[in-house]
Amino acid sequence: MAEDAKSRQQHLMRQRRVAKLKKMIIATIIAGLVLPIVLCIVLFVRVASMQSEITQLKQSLQELKEQISQFQQSDETPDESADTGWENAEIPQDAVMSDAAQVLDVTGKKQVYLTFDDGPSVYTDQILDICKQYQVKATFFVVGKTGETNETILRRIVDEGHSLGMHSYSHKYNEIYASQEAFRADFLALQAYLEEVTGVKPMIARFPGGSSNSVSKIPMEQFIACYNEEQIKYFDWNVSCGDATGQPISAQEVASNVLMHIDEHNTSVVLMHDGADKRATVEALPVIIEALQARDDVVILPITEDTIPIQHIKAESVTGEN
Ligand code: ZN
Repeated sequence: MAEDAKSRQQHLMRQRRVAKLKKMIIATIIAGLVLPIVLCIVLFVRVASMQSEITQLKQSLQELKEQISQFQQSDETPDESADTGWENAEIPQDAVMSDAAQVLDVTGKKQVYLTFDDGPSVYTDQILDICKQYQVKATFFVVGKTGETNETILRRIVDEGHSLGMHSYSHKYNEIYASQEAFRADFLALQAYLEEVTGVKPMIARFPGGSSNSVSKIPMEQFIACYNEEQIKYFDWNVSCGDATGQPISAQEVASNVLMHIDEHNTSVVLMHDGADKRATVEALPVIIEALQARDDVVILPITEDTIPIQHIKAESVTGEN
């Protein structure tokens, strides 16, 4: 009997050990399954939160980019403000004395063309308001500024009967005057952009710095040839309002710079700027227009493709006049 009891006890103990072992195996299996699942869930949550952080960062980056581009569009670029002095270069005497400057309008009056370079900017709308008030048509040689605000201004220029001309897409002298290819690519891009925005393909232009600029290392005749190939007529100036010297200038000075020189020519192409730092020019404009409109022998006109151009440097002309 004692043997029996002992063997039963041993059997019982074995059963317990087996049961314990089973429990351990099950626990190990469960741990092996549950742990990776828990880890997966934790990782999933982390990834999801990182993804939402990335989305937020992307949004912030986009907003920042938009702010930067709006700032660039609504203001002069540093490159632009560094450049503006060059357009005020001394006017070559042969341009001042050129035949074009002697031409009177059909009624025998002196012709004055008010031209604005470097826009659109925050001041272009004000200039357009002034032109509207005095019923004057002007000429805007614009650069490639994109965005809704600028496109609205470009359309307004055309809709209100002013002339829209090209002044290079980038206005970066070192880029546009690097080669004929670069020059052509730049103005064709601007021409296509302006046509897309306004429906009008501009065929008149002004070289950044004028055709007589001393910045280009390549002779300007090569770039004139590019314009000629595309039947684009370029216009320099023979009167400068002096708003691009880089020095502070008063509205009174701007006005007198224009009005003092009008009588030197029968045809005056007046260089002005509507960049974001040209408040004096805007303030001078009504003074200039009133003084000109008070005269019976002066007419203010917009430049068209038919206007005989004032040019500092001439190459074979598209019109065959030269
Ligand atoms: Zn310019």
